[in-house]
Order: sequence, then structure tokens, then C-alpha cells
Amino acid sequence: MTPEMIDNFISNNIFRYQITVDGMEKDHDSSRYLAGKQGSWKTIIENLKYFKTINNKNVSVLIRSNITPSIYHNIDEWLEYLHNNFNEPIFRMHFETAKNFGKMNDFNFNLIENETETVLDIIERAKKWYLPLELVGFRTLPFSMVCYAARQFHYIVDYNGEIKKCTSASLDEPYNIMGALDSSGVKIDYKKAAKWTSYELSEKCKTCDILGLCYRRKCPVSKENFHNCNHLIETYYKGLEYYYLTNK
Ligand code: SF4
Repeated sequence: MTPEMIDNFISNNIFRYQITVDGMEKDHDSSRYLAGKQGSWKTIIENLKYFKTINNKNVSVLIRSNITPSIYHNIDEWLEYLHNNFNEPIFRMHFETAKNFGKMNDFNFNLIENETETVLDIIERAKKWYLPLELVGFRTLPFSMVCYAARQFHYIVDYNGEIKKCTSASLDEPYNIMGALDSSGVKIDYKKAAKWTSYELSEKCKTCDILGLCYRRKCPVSKENFHNCNHLIETYYKGLEYYYLTNK
């Protein structure tokens, strides 16, 4: 991205951005480098600073950090940096542990073992700086945990014109291709897409604390898998606590 591209996007009504910065420069550049191995941190930070100059209330920027053991080790420095540099209302922050989705060189990275404990601890530490956490909206409002892939009117257009649902682990799977966009227009197999959006609750969901937030749609691909549910429930309660702290 460049400031010119940002201006161009905004003039074309693209208002919501998610930009990943994985901690301070050394941590970020150890995994997010360019083809020539040059780091990308400085450029991203400059672009984020450019967003501060934009005077358009529709624009919002989510700064996402994927937490690995080394980023977690330096987390206080990163939280303080975010507070000192990106405290404007245009920014929100989100922290997620890095995951192994089995692609490329995923196996070369150390991962956090206890996701819930780590995320709850980061939220606790963020209180010191009153950081505007995405968690407060994302994990506390009705239907806010419904994955975008489970939303009826959500699609992504891949670089080759394929229309898909999931941007994550299922990105390149055949079951993730709903149709195509080409010079003749848009074609979507709506019956195939309905498998991502229309299915029953499980018995477990009916008594779940966060049924109204998730509705068994935290991840349509893993709808038979409830391993992650406790993590979501715990971050919901932590998000509520954070909400009342930061909205006194
Ligand atoms: S049990 Fe799991 S999938 Fe079902 S509503 Fe609760 S968090 Fe969502």
C-alpha cells in the first residue's frame, strides 16, 4: 500500500481496513518480509500514520496482531507503542494467536500453546492503556461472532475471479468455490453457498452462553467441532469486563 492507493480506495468507497502488524519491528520483520527479505514493518507503520490524516468518519482501521511466543514476550512494549502512536478513534486493535493452517512454511514457526490464557492476559495488560479493542464490539454484540463466511451476502473474489466464502484454511479447497466473476458477469451456485449459511443448531448450542452471538456460526467449516467454544465464551466475558472498564 501507498498513501496514493489509500486515497484511491477511499474515493471508491472502500472504508474498512484490516492491517496486520505482528508486534515491534524485529518481531514483525522476522516473518513478514518481502521477496528480497526486506522487512515490511516501517512501510506499514508509515501507512498507518497516513490514515491519521484522513478526515472521513466512515473510515476505520483494524490493527491486527498475530501473537507468536516471541511477540508475546515483548507484548507490553507493543501495547505501549500502539497506545502512543495509534490512539485516534479511527483505529481499533485485535489480538489473535498465530495458527498453523498447514500452508507454506507454517511448520517453521513456534506457536502459542494456550490460546485462551494468552489472549485473556493480553486483554488484561491492554487495560493499562485503555486500548480500543475490537473485542468489545466483535465479541460482545448480537451475532458478532458469526463468521463472515456464514453470512448470506458475503463473498470474496479471488485474484483469478473465483468467488469464494472462506479466506482462511479452506481458501483453496474446491468446496470453497461458489462461482466466478468474469467479463460476462457474476455466477454463483446459491445451493452450494447455502451449505455455509443455512444449517440447524446443535443441542450443545441451545444451552450455550453465547448462542446469541455465535448461533453455531463461529466457523461454518468446523461446525461439528466445538473445541474452540470455551475460548470464545471466556473472551466474551473478558470483553464485557473490558467494555465496562473503558466506557465508564
Ligand atoms: S456451542 Fe459453540 S458453536 Fe454452538 S453457539 Fe456456543 S460457541 Fe457457538
